[in-house]
Amino acid sequence: MVKIKFISNSLSKKHSCGMFHPESAQRIEVIEEWLHSQKDDQISYDILDQSASKDDILVTHSSDHYRLIERSQGQTGYFYFDGDTAANNYTFEAACQAVAVGKKAIWESDSNTSIFALVRPPGHHATRTSPGGFCIFNNIAIATELALVQKKFQRIAIIDFDQHFGNGTAYIHEENPNILYFSTHADPRVSYPGCGFVEEIGEGEGRGYNVPVPLGYRASEADLQVAFEELIQPIIYQFKPEFLAISAGFDAYERDPIGILGVTVDGFSVIGKYIKQIASELEIPFAHFLEGGYNIHSLPTLVSSYITPFIQDQEKTSPNISLEPSGQTIATVNQSKKLLDDFWQL
Ligand SMILES: [Zn+2]
Repeated sequence: MVKIKFISNSLSKKHSCGMFHPESAQRIEVIEEWLHSQKDDQISYDILDQSASKDDILVTHSSDHYRLIERSQGQTGYFYFDGDTAANNYTFEAACQAVAVGKKAIWESDSNTSIFALVRPPGHHATRTSPGGFCIFNNIAIATELALVQKKFQRIAIIDFDQHFGNGTAYIHEENPNILYFSTHADPRVSYPGCGFVEEIGEGEGRGYNVPVPLGYRASEADLQVAFEELIQPIIYQFKPEFLAISAGFDAYERDPIGILGVTVDGFSVIGKYIKQIASELEIPFAHFLEGGYNIHSLPTLVSSYITPFIQDQEKTSPNISLEPSGQTIATVNQSKKLLDDFWQL
């Protein structure tokens, strides 16, 4: 059982990609409202008013990328990076703050407390050289890279359960054998960002350390269960990370307005149970980074469902799932096992 400490960046609600944009300040507002109504001692909430240094951000991003975001300050209206990612006058500072919260999440999570970086803008689509997919700086990629560079940890695993492949995180770390990246996401043939195919298992020395698991239309927690039990758990137990970082996206929800997967409310508890099992088995600390999730009404319920296994003192039970995995998922997982055969015992 661990305490979950939510930490938001003070400008999280000031950043905007545009009016009526799904990645809105309301996402933080509704979770904040739920947190303020909480009476559970296991949950706390804090706001950090601190920015990451330029040097920290440049650990994964190019100078041109940094300058591009910096230049968006002082503009009136919106500064568009692409069709769906933009900045307003607060974005640069909010993004620097989100990185600072992410760094704190990795440095300060321990066996008693797991930090949930409740930040905007999100990060997992931001690549070394460009913002994209509503993301400005890659909060989780920067924090994990810094933890290695500054010798806080030697090996870190990332599990990304957002419904979109975290192309930024995957490609930033693709040659790094000390960061193992798992992603469960919607089939890239029909979903943004159009990559994250099962064959994309890393490059050079990092080959075997990226594990993308694309899922078909309406895939649920039953499909995620196969990915966790057949791939994620066996590989992560062989890799033996010293820290587990989670890209927590809630757009895999069956009623997400821009998602195509079919994870139920209880399905997020299933994800939480697996993550708890992994962290308990390895006896390592873990932290969460907010990525997507656009059903404003349901977002607090989904976050609550996800963290319940961490804050409740339950026996290590097998998650209870009534749905069935699809044939497509089983075929994908089998293909992944073959591709990863040279690197892991599966
Ligand atoms: Zn997403």
